[in-house]
Amino acid sequence: MPQGKPAGVRCVQLDAANACRLFGLPGRPAVCVSLQPEPAMCGSDAAQALVWLQQLETRTQPPPTPGGLPRIAGKSPHP
Ligand code: SF4
Repeated sequence: MPQGKPAGVRCVQLDAANACRLFGLPGRPAVCVSLQPEPAMCGSDAAQALVWLQQLETRTQPPPTPGGLPRIAGKSPHP
């Protein structure tokens, strides 16, 4: 995803089994390579992991733009 993965959007690199298609490849984003998973983020099953991810994305999303226009990575919402 050249402009980065927006919060709440499924990564295009996930396959049908929720495995990363780039795992182990040099093109995998640095932020993904550097992520160190821990039990709290994985939970005991996929449902708990998805809840944790959603909470993380909600807590780290950028503040709303003036006028409420959507923020697009690398672009100003205003002309
Ligand atoms: S590890 Fe990164 S590139 Fe791979 S599926 Fe997850 S977000 Fe996408």
